[in-house]
Amino acid sequence: FFIGYDTKVQAQVHVTHPEVTPPRLEIRNLVRLFEGKAVVDDVSLSIQPGHVTCLLGPSGCGKSTTLRMIAGVDIQNSGQIYVDGNLICDTVFRVPPERRSIGLMFQDFALFPHLTVGENVAFGLSGPKEKKHKRVSELLERVGLFHFIGDYPHSLSGGEQQRVALARALAPRPRVMLMDEPFSGLDDRLRDGIRDETLALLKEEGTSVLLVTHEPEEAMRMADEIALMRDGRIVQRGAPYNIYKSPADKEAVAFFSDIN
Ligand code: ADP
Ligand code: MG
Repeated sequence: FFIGYDTKVQAQVHVTHPEVTPPRLEIRNLVRLFEGKAVVDDVSLSIQPGHVTCLLGPSGCGKSTTLRMIAGVDIQNSGQIYVDGNLICDTVFRVPPERRSIGLMFQDFALFPHLTVGENVAFGLSGPKEKKHKRVSELLERVGLFHFIGDYPHSLSGGEQQRVALARALAPRPRVMLMDEPFSGLDDRLRDGIRDETLALLKEEGTSVLLVTHEPEEAMRMADEIALMRDGRIVQRGAPYNIYKSPADKEAVAFFSDIN
């Protein structure tokens, strides 16, 4: 589902480095403790405007927890989060989730069953009706599903619902899109095609993306940059090809060895 968009966020906070373009998203030294154990352990990351960064690592390494803090549905024990150089969250100051201009797409991307496809895509939009309709139509046409605008989600296939969910998340033009294993519910036949379509649309829209995955192949296919995570820490960052060619250590070699 989409967590709203509000430009007022920018007005109320300071810009850290006015002389250079700041990253679209930056997290600094994030820590999240559960029962005294750091499941996210001093994680720092940045995403340049228009880039797709993949947070890649095995199950349980802390990827979803990191995303949940950025989305604002969980709170870090220490560290800071910035969007366009503006602080949106530290341990004392906190912009609420719906004011962060962050779009979300999670594994169970459930559309609202009682709303039509068009109403689902319009859900996070405000303003005049005609303007909303224009944006909804444009996105549904772009994903090839305009003819479903008045239908309910249950009449669509899994792949089609996935594309509607993407349109819904992109509709309010979020500054950052967070995607948590968004393709894992799809069957293998569909997955590559939907990955490519999704990436093409994200690039057209110029959306900056943090995509979480445990599949090296998906990261290689979609990322401008990969951040390799293990046991709560980022162990390596770089262009996909460079990481694939020169993994940081033995465990990273083993992790990538699944790719043919
Ligand atoms: P990933 O998304 O990489 O699979 P998660 O971020 O979901 O990993 O989880 C990282 C670790 O934190 C796991 O060991 C998980 O069991 C633990 N964890 C996550 N959420 C909670 C919670 N609410 N309470 C206690 N432990 C949690
Ligand atoms: Mg997860």
